[in-house]
Amino acid sequence: MAEALKPGDARKILLMVLDGMGDRPVKELGSKTPLQYAAKRAMDKFASEGTCGIMDTIGRGIRPGSDTAHLALLGYNPYEVYTGRGPFEALGIGMDVRAGDVAFRCNFATVDTRMVVTDRRAGRIREGTDELGRSLDGMEIDGVKILFKPAVEHRAVLILRGKGLCAKVTDADPHSEGQKVHESNPSVNNNATDFKDAEFTAKVLNKFVLESYKALNAHLVNKERTKNGELPANIILPRGAGMAPHIPKISDRYGMKSSCVAGISLVKGICRYVGMEIPDVKGATGGTDTDLGAKMKAVLRELDKNDFVLLNIKALDIFGHDGDAKGKAAYIGKIDRQLKFLFSNIGENVVVALTADHSTPVSVRDHSGDPVPLAICGPHVRKDVIIKYDEVSCASGALGRIRGMDLLPVMLDLANRSEKYGA
Ligand code: ZN
Ligand code: ZN
Repeated sequence: MAEALKPGDARKILLMVLDGMGDRPVKELGSKTPLQYAAKRAMDKFASEGTCGIMDTIGRGIRPGSDTAHLALLGYNPYEVYTGRGPFEALGIGMDVRAGDVAFRCNFATVDTRMVVTDRRAGRIREGTDELGRSLDGMEIDGVKILFKPAVEHRAVLILRGKGLCAKVTDADPHSEGQKVHESNPSVNNNATDFKDAEFTAKVLNKFVLESYKALNAHLVNKERTKNGELPANIILPRGAGMAPHIPKISDRYGMKSSCVAGISLVKGICRYVGMEIPDVKGATGGTDTDLGAKMKAVLRELDKNDFVLLNIKALDIFGHDGDAKGKAAYIGKIDRQLKFLFSNIGENVVVALTADHSTPVSVRDHSGDPVPLAICGPHVRKDVIIKYDEVSCASGALGRIRGMDLLPVMLDLANRSEKYGA
């Protein structure tokens, strides 16, 4: 940064989210967590120069999803803005989701001629769903636009876009085999204000399910499957309706220009939804093969252009789900070497937080409610006595134990961007 910093100047904010980094002690690692076990001098130095704490991304003992956790880290109350998995699954597979859309998680399934579900996963279909999906995407039913996109294996997402829609409808998916496809109905009683919208939405959904049977049952892909002795994926079973929420944009809420450097489409989708820019970073895959160096360089570039940058690195979560303690610890070391480069190039006008969106303990192989470590550094940020960056050391830091949705307000304050409450 060229010009000298003056007291009270607004700083930039960098929020680094190492996905699923938090863990529990692992026997294989001498009863240390992967973070305690890893070689991580840059992280320890960072912790020793700033203020530390631990964080419950959603709340104490709550196991966060990456979607709800990132909403909280962006300052939103997940209990207000998270309207179910549908819209966020849609964001996660890169669909263009708009406020007011009603989204459903779906399965490709198999039904017989009586519309009885014989396989809820269409024989765990792996191939051909893109072609099948194309025959449904872009349809229009009673003035409602149908957006349909297959995800992995038998999964897919359906979006209804149009006027007079409501997410308070029951599932068409009967959730078990041997049952007829359910008719969707309003899940509110008939004197509720949104009953008419729910009734209309259920009607559109039922027509879509029927249309899906007509289009898919006759589809070439299914004729081939049947010929090969495989089950036809001849119907779509939607469930879990959710309305894409109206969320105030980061720029409107905080007056900050912001961007997100991430590989996984779920995080990119959420950040795009709240108005952040999503630069294309070559080599950022969202996997363990991601180009960390390219991401660090992208962060530096984005910090030049924006007030707020979020970085997500996904790999540690994957090692957690795989139960690979040594791999997780080794990858922490790999990230640490890149952080050394980042920290020495970042300039002095940035308030930086290093944390995780949740713990993914290798002993659980899934997300847990264990709080995550947090350290914040920047100009005039208080320095506490913590000199190691890990789940246990940070717990004794000056920040104490905070909630995920309080992190951004804390950083805004440290960056001199917070509005005064009162006179
Ligand atoms: Zn996550
Ligand atoms: Zn995960």
